[in-house]
Amino acid sequence: MSKVDEIFGLNVFNDSVMKERLPEDVYNILKSTIKEGKTIDSSIADTVATAMKDWAIEKGATHFTHWFQPLTGITAEKHDSFISPVGDGHIIMEFSGKELIKGEPDASSFPSGGLRATFEARGYTAWDPSSYAFVKDETLCIPTAFCSYSGEALDQKTPLLRSMEAINKQALRIVKLFGYEDVKRVNVTVGPEQEYFLVEKNMYEKRPDLIFCGRTLIGAMPPKGQEMDDHYFGVLKPRVAAFMRELDNELWKLGVLAKTEHNEAAPSQHELAPIFTTINIAADHNQLTMEMMKKIALKHGLVCLLHEKPFDGVNGSGKHNNWSLSTDTGINFLKPGKKPDENPLFLISLAAVIAAVDEYQELLRIAVATAGNDHRLGANEAPPAIISIYLGDELTGILEAIENGEHHDSAKREKMNMGADIIPSFRKDNADRNRTSPFAFTGNKFEFRMLGSASSISDVNVMLNTMVAEIFSRFADRLEKAVDFEGEINAIIKDVMKNHKRIIFNGDGYSEEWKKEAEKRGLLNLASTVDAIPLLSSEKNVSLFEKHKVLNSSEINSRIDIILENYSKIIHIEALTILEMMNREVMPAIVEYTNVLCTAVLDKNSIGGINSTVEREFISRLSAANKEIYSLSEKLKMTVARAERTEEVLEKAKIYHDEVLKLMSDIRKYADSAESVVPSKYWPYPSYGEILSSI
Ligand code: ADP
Ligand code: MG
Repeated sequence: MSKVDEIFGLNVFNDSVMKERLPEDVYNILKSTIKEGKTIDSSIADTVATAMKDWAIEKGATHFTHWFQPLTGITAEKHDSFISPVGDGHIIMEFSGKELIKGEPDASSFPSGGLRATFEARGYTAWDPSSYAFVKDETLCIPTAFCSYSGEALDQKTPLLRSMEAINKQALRIVKLFGYEDVKRVNVTVGPEQEYFLVEKNMYEKRPDLIFCGRTLIGAMPPKGQEMDDHYFGVLKPRVAAFMRELDNELWKLGVLAKTEHNEAAPSQHELAPIFTTINIAADHNQLTMEMMKKIALKHGLVCLLHEKPFDGVNGSGKHNNWSLSTDTGINFLKPGKKPDENPLFLISLAAVIAAVDEYQELLRIAVATAGNDHRLGANEAPPAIISIYLGDELTGILEAIENGEHHDSAKREKMNMGADIIPSFRKDNADRNRTSPFAFTGNKFEFRMLGSASSISDVNVMLNTMVAEIFSRFADRLEKAVDFEGEINAIIKDVMKNHKRIIFNGDGYSEEWKKEAEKRGLLNLASTVDAIPLLSSEKNVSLFEKHKVLNSSEINSRIDIILENYSKIIHIEALTILEMMNREVMPAIVEYTNVLCTAVLDKNSIGGINSTVEREFISRLSAANKEIYSLSEKLKMTVARAERTEEVLEKAKIYHDEVLKLMSDIRKYADSAESVVPSKYWPYPSYGEILSSI
């Protein structure tokens, strides 16, 4: 065995560990529970718990925790030790089935958006047996879902698991219609590609904006940015390579299928892509990946920035959510095969995604709406805030032919000829890549590219699963009743093309023409979080989530409050940070350097006859900039105070969006113009150039 074989999954209570350590009958029950997404039989819990504990102790664990994902967007853990007194001053290490299945963290300080009054602090965590337990930091971590005393979801995982059920139920109806009687379960598979920045820790520590906000709030452009495209896929610097190697190793031990590591478009930007897996596991693994990135970077004297837009004028970071559906027997719904036009399951699935994405556009936009991601969407580097689907010419052609009742010849896939005989020839893909599309068909899956780098992947997939489940349910209703099955498939595709074709766009998503064209087609363009979030509680959306038992209306409303409150909190912190930077460092630095220039002018005057035009010019420019910074800062202070006095969450978020962000960017303009003339020894912070080329 290679070293990687040996370490992969070393710290995971996975299938082979279960098989080895559990009695056969218990193992079989647990295995079928996991495979078919059934409710756990509590009679086996004690046996599983004991085996888990013994295994974890061998791995050095002393504690256990229910590991969950509250609506803060990150993971939470509360550690309990295994110790249990036996009466004679000794202890034994114990862990019961009850402790495995259910936890009761004091939930009062997690966001609930009013679902759970603070005096009803009780919240429950419940074991998700379909995501393996693992040992991290001497603790047995048990993936769980988190809900309130009355069963409302307080986390990201509960609705995700519910949405998996919803799509499983409807997709099963579809596959059965196509004769796949042996299929027991349809799973959503996701591979999230994670982008991030690495910066030198020494530099980071000198920037309060990076420390408190995760992004720079000021910073003049460096002479060299990413215009040379020399970083993308470039050779890894040794420190970065060492970081990536350790990251891969640690992730492998946790069973995360880390596969691809490379440099990204911006200087100091990188990407990690895992091999896809079932969505709830992919979501857990993505959280672990982000956590490990931060931890391991520190060990290398680096800091990992997961913010969507750490540096202005340089590409931001996203997370590409590659999504598909497959059966437990291995059929991928979105695999076109050699002749996509003769593959009805594929065509129906494609049509379902098209209809879902068009009809529920706003849900995808809502799922990616965060204060950080707003800086990135539509900024000529990331998809615009308009949702559209890229299919490529061949698939669009097939659907159009069906729409028009024409015969379509599946174009023979061309062979690629690189012009040198030594290079093996291979078949070209059905479609070229289109990097500007927010939602692109990429061979056997859809890639949704609007998600921000710091977000959990849960919400996006809750939306996708639920909206596709809804369309599948309508298709299944029609097909189950159909007399002429094939004719009905054709009719469904025709209807989808007629009603939802506007969402298909194969051109340049970054262009100005597309914005105009999209408006003509009536597609939504929700520029910011405050524009998008309120749409979540529309009648259409509430009835979608209630019908498929994914979220009820009070859960939806609580989520709206939490997202908006969170948005306001983030910008509040940013505003306070920029104020402190201006008051305590930037304005004093400008004064200090201006004083030096004034002294120089006085000295020259005292000699007489020496020209001081340049000094005087700098003095007046810097004094003017400082005056603006001062008065804008005063205005910002007042505006923030007014926002904080505003009770209504949407109104408050709008003040932050419309006024506070605007004032911050005005302050930034003056600070950046000052930075470009103040010598670095007077400037309090490392520059963009220094930070971005520090490693
Ligand atoms: P790109 O070229 O976009 O960088 P890749 O082709 O390497 O990416 O794949 C991107 C991601 O898509 C990977 O995480 C991969 O595992 C995932 N992926 C591949 N097939 C599927 C599928 N059927 N379902 C979900 N994700 C998939
Ligand atoms: Mg990609």
